[in-house]
Amino acid sequence: MAQEITRDTAFFGFSPAIEPALRVAQGEEVHLTTHDCFSGQLKTPADTLATLDWSITNPATGPVYIEGAKPGDLLRVDLLEVTATGSSVMVAVPQVGALGHLIEQEETVILENRDGKVYFKDTVVVDQDPMLGVIGVAPAEGVVPNSTPGPHGGNMDCTLITTGAKLYLSVAVEGALFGCGDMHAVMGDGEVVICGAETPGEVRMTAQVVDIPALPTPFVETEDLVAVIASAESTDAAYKMALDMMHGFLTKVAGLPVNDAALLMSLVGNLRFCQVVDPLLTVRFEFPKKVLADYGFSMPG
Ligand code: CA
Ligand code: ZN
Repeated sequence: MAQEITRDTAFFGFSPAIEPALRVAQGEEVHLTTHDCFSGQLKTPADTLATLDWSITNPATGPVYIEGAKPGDLLRVDLLEVTATGSSVMVAVPQVGALGHLIEQEETVILENRDGKVYFKDTVVVDQDPMLGVIGVAPAEGVVPNSTPGPHGGNMDCTLITTGAKLYLSVAVEGALFGCGDMHAVMGDGEVVICGAETPGEVRMTAQVVDIPALPTPFVETEDLVAVIASAESTDAAYKMALDMMHGFLTKVAGLPVNDAALLMSLVGNLRFCQVVDPLLTVRFEFPKKVLADYGFSMPG
């Protein structure tokens, strides 16, 4: 029997000070429901940011205490299934996001989710590819608002964080205090207008401590690739972090020679934006698992 926690139990900043809402064993399956990033406040095109209660934006369901996880541990979160439910909402708002200088009229758009598709107005139908924008663990001290990404995870808005992905995070407090939310039924890399198809959803997952010395975090593994995620005050600073993190992974964890790692990052690696609209900006560097296998390396477990 999986343990369950609903969107009614949410927090708005990752912090060691929040009482756990659920305690689970390592590897035990957890079912979560999540709110959209507005806590469901935008229901029709007439609902705008002007009437929004900002204090309940970016909710994360949790925190979930992972028994036995302790500071210094590496936590692997396996996303068994990420499912969008209900309808989605998007907003275009003057002076907000990376396109705000071009937007003159605020608009709230409700998008229907049906049969694995997202319906944008009467014009466009796209495949759902649901992902979690906010996912992380508590920092050692203080509070990191859920709007903000960082070494703990948080609002990374990385489109790789979807069904089948494994996310590795560094544990900073007893129990890790995991939470997630801000699901997007679909989102483009960059999240340029300030949102994806913001949607409530359901997540099936497990979390467990694993031992991979020197693994840089946050780190994502999908069927085909691995990626490091870096957030900073500028995309320049973020991409430099991501390059160093991936080169460190390739040389110190996967065992590639220094020059091979650098050459192959340039040959088959991809530097991509996650989002350019949050308080810190996030990029990732992706590297194919097939090339790791050519060097005799595969991710443990
Ligand atoms: Ca987000
Ligand atoms: Zn979002």
